[in-house]
Amino acid sequence: MAQYYCECDHRMWNGMAPNDIEWWVYLNGAWKDIINTGSMHSTDIPSADYDVWRCPECERAYAFPYNDNDTRDCNKVVKYYVLYSHAELKNFQYDFVSEDKSMVCECGNKLSEDQEDVRLVVYSDREWEDKVNLGDIDSAKIPPPSLDLWCCSKCERAYVFEGDELIKYYVLHGLDELTSG
Ligand SMILES: [Zn+2]
Ligand SMILES: [Zn+2]
Repeated sequence: MAQYYCECDHRMWNGMAPNDIEWWVYLNGAWKDIINTGSMHSTDIPSADYDVWRCPECERAYAFPYNDNDTRDCNKVVKYYVLYSHAELKNFQYDFVSEDKSMVCECGNKLSEDQEDVRLVVYSDREWEDKVNLGDIDSAKIPPPSLDLWCCSKCERAYVFEGDELIKYYVLHGLDELTSG
């Protein structure tokens, strides 16, 4: 269990199981390895690459990495994201209709799903409990997450989709802006 104070002063706590705070984010390669494992126990699934905490009040998001010992370093936010309004998007475009999904980030960078670590695998803690953490499982049959997370390789803006619809738009902010924790 851990807690973290959001910049808006909301106290986030992950002691509830499941909780509405955490997102488990895997890089594509790591998730593919899990899917290819087959029969396994869900508790043997390697830790996510990022444990992302989202504030339920203001939706700021904080990414914590896992260290080599598979424990989260709570004091070390490595990425700090602020939710922006879709209305601020001017250059962003996406094509999820074509066979190869692609998008143009707000910064102008062209992204496609076959680029490494652009389209990430993200399960909410609640979803993880419902779909993944079920004991003895066949990892190839883990249902995909309901959200789709794309991250720009240049500016690190993050876009969250539900189906084909953009539902959240995040901009990376500097860690020097953080005052609490
Ligand atoms: Zn907050
Ligand atoms: Zn970008």
